[in-house]
Amino acid sequence: MQLGANLPKIGSYNRAVVLETIQASDGISRVQIAARTRLTAQTVSVIVRRLLEEGLVVEDGSVPSSGGKPRTILRVDPGAGYAVGVHFDPQEISCVLADLAGRPVARSHLAVRTALSPEAVIRQMARAARRILREAGVPDGKVLGVGLACPGPLDGDGVMVSPPRLPAWDQVPIKRLLCEHTRFPVTVDNDATAAAIGERWAGTARTTPSFAYLYLGTGIGGGIFLDNQVYRGRSMNAAEFGHITVEPDGPECYCGNRGCVEALCCPSAIEAALGVPHAAACAAAARGEPAAREVIERVARRLADAAVSVVNMLDIDLLVLGGPALREVGEIYREVIAQAVTDRALARRLHAVRVETSPIAADAAAIGAASLVFHATYAPRLRTTLLGG
Ligand SMILES: [Zn+2]
Repeated sequence: MQLGANLPKIGSYNRAVVLETIQASDGISRVQIAARTRLTAQTVSVIVRRLLEEGLVVEDGSVPSSGGKPRTILRVDPGAGYAVGVHFDPQEISCVLADLAGRPVARSHLAVRTALSPEAVIRQMARAARRILREAGVPDGKVLGVGLACPGPLDGDGVMVSPPRLPAWDQVPIKRLLCEHTRFPVTVDNDATAAAIGERWAGTARTTPSFAYLYLGTGIGGGIFLDNQVYRGRSMNAAEFGHITVEPDGPECYCGNRGCVEALCCPSAIEAALGVPHAAACAAAARGEPAAREVIERVARRLADAAVSVVNMLDIDLLVLGGPALREVGEIYREVIAQAVTDRALARRLHAVRVETSPIAADAAAIGAASLVFHATYAPRLRTTLLGG
């Protein structure tokens, strides 16, 4: 069923569209905003005046225009608000303080001791968030919230549901607990979707309406933006690209499927094939050592098989590769995947699909977690507008 929308809600949606347009640009005038959003000049003018009054946007010089008076350039004020992004990985807690432009202004990393209870680990996350704010001298009043990227699956209330590799974390209400310990509002998402939102806010996908994000961490996940909207699926667990079968007779996967790209390409599979830690294997491949190179290229080909399926299914403009497991081997993966998409995607004669490694790859999920807060606060969401959320 299609739903109608009331005018006040459309007003706040337009405001978010304008703010996102300013954020995505590198300086933009009111006339350019009107042209890009197809809003009237008067509507843009009214919205921009309010954003200026609220201090979210600043005027930053002017450019000459043909004939008329010079046009004032608008930018988001990076110091108008901050968010703390926390990425909880089974081995490490990464923490980033990001300004409103999505740029990290401080970061910290801390190892997770496996013996700790979930509650103790969540207290560690809260202390890390508090410490990064204290050290950067950002007062609580400027903090829009804490974003948390954690391994899925997650339910709609931010409760972890049987996460693989983390048996003690089943049914842990991680969102509520982190909120209690930090006393900030917490926005939570799975790590791969968070990384995709970070890419949208601050990375290579700022102006791309439809893209997919292939996240390579301890496991393999993904995120999807279609027509400028993040797509989460029925239960917030869409884009599980790691569980595409690429070897029908391959090993059984914990997900219940067989021959999944994750089972064949995750860091532990590379370690098993070479008998050395993942980082050493990647470094050896980057140096060109034949055995390591052969394993990494085989992994790249399996990733490429999955990538071609993703491109065929979604008909996107851009595929972004990101996540900590790309370190040292990102360019090898990118080349093999780009070639496969160029040669084998069904719509290749209609349009090109770019394949790029994320410029924020190493901290993608933590920066993405901070962006979750901005995205939840400011991004135009038609569905929420329509449903009155
Ligand atoms: Zn699987």
